[in-house]
Amino acid sequence: MKALIYDIKRFAVHDGPGIRTTIFFKGCPLECWWCHNPESRRAEIEHTQKINKLDGKKFTTQIQTGKPWKVEDLMKEIRKEKPFMFESGGGVTLSGGEPLFYPEYLEQVLDALRTENIHTAIDTSGYASEEIFTRLALKADLFLYDIKHMNNDLHKKYTGVGNITILKNLEFLHKSRIPVIIRFPLIPGINDGSNVIEMRNYLLDYCPEFKEIHILPYHNIASHKYRQFGIENKMPGQTEPSQRQINDVKNTFMESGFLVKIGG
Ligand code: SF4
Repeated sequence: MKALIYDIKRFAVHDGPGIRTTIFFKGCPLECWWCHNPESRRAEIEHTQKINKLDGKKFTTQIQTGKPWKVEDLMKEIRKEKPFMFESGGGVTLSGGEPLFYPEYLEQVLDALRTENIHTAIDTSGYASEEIFTRLALKADLFLYDIKHMNNDLHKKYTGVGNITILKNLEFLHKSRIPVIIRFPLIPGINDGSNVIEMRNYLLDYCPEFKEIHILPYHNIASHKYRQFGIENKMPGQTEPSQRQINDVKNTFMESGFLVKIGG
């Protein structure tokens, strides 16, 4: 069995505890306006060009994004970093794109990692059917779980899908006592203000055990990738949050007893 993977990041320290290997799957059912990995969206191998300059001359490089990986080949790759993972309390983070986009493959990888006592984290939008989600959730050690917007209509506008399934799946994790770190991409004018209060209140009411939240301030460093991959950038000129805005959001959660981290 194979899945499309577009990057494997070794020695990752922002994708869960310890030193980790992060696997980036290619393919995502969402289309978030602020996505900083647009190269991860399409579940297909893509060929693009990059122009480099050297001594005043231009050189065009062909770039392939995405490669099919068999489970056994991926496991061989992961095993190379096992000493660092065990030494640091780290493991493997399955990210994307959307790892739940490849449920059968993901299940095999999670099973193989558990057999080898390797800690697993799934970095997800949470958008998957109840059947797939509940089956896979019980095989992971930790979830890094995005909450993008509390308003269903606005969630649909900005990501292409509503948030009902996503919140239901999050509540399943809470009921099942599976550890979760909430991730919140903060985008001024889109999900700040009253949305932050609504999100805090929702977490306190429905998922009170989830007390760690990572705020991911929007940055526009990925705009060139939209051009490279021929994807419409729906928010050109979007401003990044100021330090004051970030602190306000941080304080909103800290005052309610959350452990808050800025960045992944
Ligand atoms: S869920 Fe993540 S990878 Fe998918 S479009 Fe949104 S930000 Fe990008």
